[in-house]
Amino acid sequence: MEKLNHDEQFISEKVGFLPSLRFKILLLFIVILVIPLVLLMQVSIKRTEEAAQNDFTRRLTYSGGLLRSSMEDKIEWLRIRAKTVADFDFYSQAKTGFSASMTTQLMQSELIRSGLDFVGLIQNGVTLLQGEGTLPTAQTPKIIPSICHLPLAANLYVLDQEPWIFAAAEITKLRGIGKYHILLAYRFPRDFADSFKRLTEAEFTVIYSGKRVLTTLMDQMNHRMIDTPLPQSELRNGTLEINGKKFNFVREEAIPGKISEPIFIEIALPISEFQELGAKIAGDFTLFGIFGIFLAIITGTILAWHIGLPLNELAQSTTQLASGDFSLTVKTNRRDEIGQLFRNFGAMVSGLKLEKELKENKMRELSTLFEISNAVNFLSDSVELLKFVLTRAIDIFSAERGSIMLLDDVTDELVIKVVFGGRYRVSSSTPIKLGHGICGLVAKEGKGRICNAGFRDTEFKNFGSLIPVEDIKTLLVSPLKFKDGTIGVINIVNKRDGEEFTEGDLALLNLIASQAAITIENNKLYELSITDGLTRLFVQRYFLARLAEELLRARRYGLKLSLIMIDIDNFKQFNDVYGHQTGDLVLQRVAMAIRDTVRIGIDIPCRYGGEEMVVILPETRSEEAHKTAERLRETIASLSISHPMGNLKITCSLGVASYPMDAIDKDTLLLSADKAMYFSKRAGKNCTTIASEMDKI
Ligand code: GH3
Ligand code: MG
Ligand code: MG
Repeated sequence: MEKLNHDEQFISEKVGFLPSLRFKILLLFIVILVIPLVLLMQVSIKRTEEAAQNDFTRRLTYSGGLLRSSMEDKIEWLRIRAKTVADFDFYSQAKTGFSASMTTQLMQSELIRSGLDFVGLIQNGVTLLQGEGTLPTAQTPKIIPSICHLPLAANLYVLDQEPWIFAAAEITKLRGIGKYHILLAYRFPRDFADSFKRLTEAEFTVIYSGKRVLTTLMDQMNHRMIDTPLPQSELRNGTLEINGKKFNFVREEAIPGKISEPIFIEIALPISEFQELGAKIAGDFTLFGIFGIFLAIITGTILAWHIGLPLNELAQSTTQLASGDFSLTVKTNRRDEIGQLFRNFGAMVSGLKLEKELKENKMRELSTLFEISNAVNFLSDSVELLKFVLTRAIDIFSAERGSIMLLDDVTDELVIKVVFGGRYRVSSSTPIKLGHGICGLVAKEGKGRICNAGFRDTEFKNFGSLIPVEDIKTLLVSPLKFKDGTIGVINIVNKRDGEEFTEGDLALLNLIASQAAITIENNKLYELSITDGLTRLFVQRYFLARLAEELLRARRYGLKLSLIMIDIDNFKQFNDVYGHQTGDLVLQRVAMAIRDTVRIGIDIPCRYGGEEMVVILPETRSEEAHKTAERLRETIASLSISHPMGNLKITCSLGVASYPMDAIDKDTLLLSADKAMYFSKRAGKNCTTIASEMDKI
């Protein structure tokens, strides 16, 4: 396929992957789907974590607050209780002078009544009385840091590895007996911790000297973890797993007070549901995210390929089209817009292709017509001209073979002049009468015919010219019309692709035929104009023109050229004796002998004038020309012309002159040949003289 030269700079290169549409779609898909998805995931996880933390803090605050207020309530109650006891009971007892034993009883009853574990009366740092609950220890006085009117302290103490809450009051209203202090305490109850746990779901631990002295935490064996020493640092913050459940530990400072050693209360909250949910969501999100990204990439890729690839293909096709290649085919089964685009593009390409083909056909037709009309200019031979016309016609129809028949002027019958193509040659030149068979009918009617039934056509007649007739499947015949008459027919047989001939084909063949007829007629006229009517040799005018042409060629290419001049001996006398008509006959026979002796299509035999003939021998040196001249002389001498007076014989004299040896211009060369010929006359006739050798003789 011929490429178009114009606009080549606009034909784009093949699109690479990076700037391609599919890459952009994929990128866009990833950017608009994957990145927001990842960000959303991150944000969601962060929010969930924050919510979990908030929930944890809230629960911790709630638990801590509950513990603090509960402890403070208890201590407040103890304080009030101590003050009340000090203010009323002991004061009145001291005033009325109850005995010590009575005091003891009082203390005991007070102990029972108040639900306390310990009640003590202390005077000047010495314990006077104490209740019969569990005795704190001998260190009890130490826990009273100073003496004051109001409760001295209300605090949490660990005595003998047990947490206690104490409250004390100073009794200053007793006269004369020094200062008394009333001390009330009760064990930090386990059930408090348990109910605290029930209420808040928090584990509760009291730590003293780095050891748990009270806890709701259970070990693996479901025992309270009282004696398990744990380093404080580890307990400051962290997670502890108990019975498969995780706990977060947060330390609460001990209730403020003036105590020698710090006691810590820790609240342990199990990991909140929120946190668990958060972890779960994070896990889910990770899974979902990876799956989502995977899906996004897959769908993005599919989408990119689904849209990008066909568009890419289409783009390649347009490039191909732009480069002038119309052979491309675009096919798709898609029913969407891309499919439509493909189909429309395909239709466009077909349209363009068709248009191009039509244009090419038109061009071919035009050029064929032009070639045929022009053929007369370069083909002087009528048979060559007919062959040329036929070949062009067969070519344009992509046919297997064809023939041209011309009407004989005398018999008015069609005679096959040239046959081309196929395995068969003309086996018989049986002339076809006008009106006989398809060709005869076409010639008679002057109207072309399509005969797609071939030899089966009812009008078809086998004249034995082409064998076997079964091979004529389809036939197209047009008349060669010139002016008002028909000069012959042109037959085109079987399209190579097996297709039938169409009306369009007939119209085209008619066109070719009419053009060919003009050309054939022109050729006939031209032939007549350059040919001598009697001898059929070229006329002098033509001879002179050709001689000039051939000399020019010889000069240009450094070639040799020879002329043979022939003159019949004693022709005047011959005419006189045998008559002018016999003379004419002799002239015809001599001319025929010359035509048969010289090289066809190379040498140019002419009638120079009267009974003088001349032959131009291009690319021939004088020795070769001499040989030809001798051959001619002998042939002419051997001619025998039958006449009532017997078989007549003639001879001729010949002269040979060559370029550039004898002359370099037309006139001198001609003169030289003439001289040589006359030299032969003088030498006794019936001989040949070479111009260059005249002087030597
Ligand atoms: P030579 O051997 O010297 O050539 O003798 P010649 O008689 O042939 O003399 P020349 O060549 O001068 O004679 C020319 C004669 O040829 C004159 C004429 O009668 C005859 N002639 C010329 N043209 C024709 C022609 O067309 N037909 C016939 N029959 N004779 C012609
Ligand atoms: Mg003569
Ligand atoms: Mg003569």
